[in-house]
Amino acid sequence: MIDAIFDTAYPAGRFDTSLNLIEGNPYMYRFFGSNVYFSILKIVNSDEQEKLTADVERCRNNPQLRIDECIHISNSSGGQDCYFLGMKLSDTPDILNITLINVTESKAHINSLNRRLMLARNFLTLNGTAVFVYKPSTGYIEISYVKNEQTAVFFNMDIDEWRTQMYEENRINLEDKDLFDLFCATVKVAKENRTIIFRGSIIGDKNRMETYRVTFNVHEYSGDEPVVAGTWSIMHAGTNDANNNYFEDSYIDALTGLLNKKAIMSYAENAVNGINHDHVGLAIMDIDNFKSVNDNYGHMFGDKVIKAVGEVIKNAVGTDAVAGRMGGDEFLIVFEKCQNELEYRNILRCIKSNVQNVYKGKMGDNTLSCSIGLARYGYGPGSTSYHDLFKIADRALYLAKQKGKNRYIIYKPEIHGDYSSKGENEDIVNVSNSYYSAADINKLNTLFTRIIIDGIDIIPETLDLFAKALKLDRVSIFYGEGSLPKFTSNYTGSVCPANPIVIKDEKYLGLFNNNMLAMSNVHAIEYSCPNVFNVLIDTEISSTMQYVLRDADNNPAGLVSADIFGIPIAFPKVVTNVYQNMCSIINAVLLREKLI
Ligand code: GH3
Ligand code: MG
Repeated sequence: MIDAIFDTAYPAGRFDTSLNLIEGNPYMYRFFGSNVYFSILKIVNSDEQEKLTADVERCRNNPQLRIDECIHISNSSGGQDCYFLGMKLSDTPDILNITLINVTESKAHINSLNRRLMLARNFLTLNGTAVFVYKPSTGYIEISYVKNEQTAVFFNMDIDEWRTQMYEENRINLEDKDLFDLFCATVKVAKENRTIIFRGSIIGDKNRMETYRVTFNVHEYSGDEPVVAGTWSIMHAGTNDANNNYFEDSYIDALTGLLNKKAIMSYAENAVNGINHDHVGLAIMDIDNFKSVNDNYGHMFGDKVIKAVGEVIKNAVGTDAVAGRMGGDEFLIVFEKCQNELEYRNILRCIKSNVQNVYKGKMGDNTLSCSIGLARYGYGPGSTSYHDLFKIADRALYLAKQKGKNRYIIYKPEIHGDYSSKGENEDIVNVSNSYYSAADINKLNTLFTRIIIDGIDIIPETLDLFAKALKLDRVSIFYGEGSLPKFTSNYTGSVCPANPIVIKDEKYLGLFNNNMLAMSNVHAIEYSCPNVFNVLIDTEISSTMQYVLRDADNNPAGLVSADIFGIPIAFPKVVTNVYQNMCSIINAVLLREKLI
């Protein structure tokens, strides 16, 4: 609890005597944005700038002096907060150490902690415990988990709707139905203190039944409505020990202290499906080239890096988001409070900058970096379902990696394409079928006839029309000597792939069916055919349809590659069919003209 209060103090960093930032704490970047690089004076209320400049002088003249002031600073949302500022000269000449405590926020934070403490005064500490609160006046039940400064709210909804939802999602062991109903009914009456034990899968993984021991009391305060509050412990299977640490063991990532994969995913799902979903954003973050950290400095050092990165995320998001580790070097951050893109940018920029300082100088000249993809609720088709929002964030991360890493990408349909998802089990974001026009595709049949009649001369023109009609970023035809394509549609965005290492890779060709391989996501062959995968990734191809051209003896003699860059798409059947037809015609014409 004490930790949580101190976490609202921002040891701002080190400043020169003009109050320019020399070395900043994450909070500085997050709260003040880029202005802080110039001078803290830029963000201080103009009436108080003189006072602050005089303080600097007094500190300079007396190295032992520590000055504490209350000042007003504009925050990134355009408002002003009152800060408690501490200033003292550091050991380095003319460098000042400054700490800031946000008084406005601390007050609110302490009030909210006090409220929670009062509600749960029967319990030694809330830290690391799941708790629930029911308010008869609203009929809402809130189940949350408090760990240091992070409060993960698993549910906050009408108790009757919650009860129905629990049954609909099969989260209650039906043998314990009576006990669960008793729990709901007793809590609603708000008169009795009780302990009830029942089995269910309410807090964590939907598929794992756990035994809950729920203890609650009715709390009445003068002038206030009574509330029911209690703890929600999980008992070890097969024993009657209620052990709060079990919660920690089950839902906290031991290395970083953040929520673990199961807990953060469940949290994210509830956030997207909850009443405040309009402000939900999911960010997936992955450390860049982390394998080389492990390879060069060992796994133990790698673990320290992951832990330090977890700390950076925790500091950067503060109470604005809940973070968890998905495993390996990947993290999921669930935002619920950011009102606009600027607020997201401030936090993401803060994470990105501060990751660069993790173990700086301890890895030779290498600097750590990370890539982040963020998807916001309501931005883009499909972005209102948890499943799809997650996929969009994943795609945005993929794009960030592809564009060279060390960056964050906030997915926007108008920039990154109008992608929607279909099909439950697809693991990529699909282009909806309506994206293709039947009329465009029909026109292609006429083109095919012309290739047959006019032969190779018509191919350049054909490829352009073909790529356009099928919304392909580029179509290239390779055969004969050399690594460059003989023909390519007039796409200007990226270099053409180095050729056909591809057609010499037997393992790769083994994946083809009727000379054709359609890959919605080239990562499908990342491990099975790494050489080909590298060629594709090097040229930024994310989805591709490939057709192997064969000579008169049926040996591989070339390749037609139809490529997509950026966010992968699923090729509808109609597209793969028409592509296969065109390629077989091209193959026939090349044979006829003895080019292969
Ligand atoms: P990229 O920039 O594309 O993300 O490349 P990367 O090298 O970071 O590769 P990737 O994210 O795919 O792989 C993460 C690696 O993290 C794989 C595995 O060796 C390592 N790893 C996974 N879990 C742990 C862990 O708990 N501790 C340590 N030290 N390493 C881990
Ligand atoms: Mg990585």
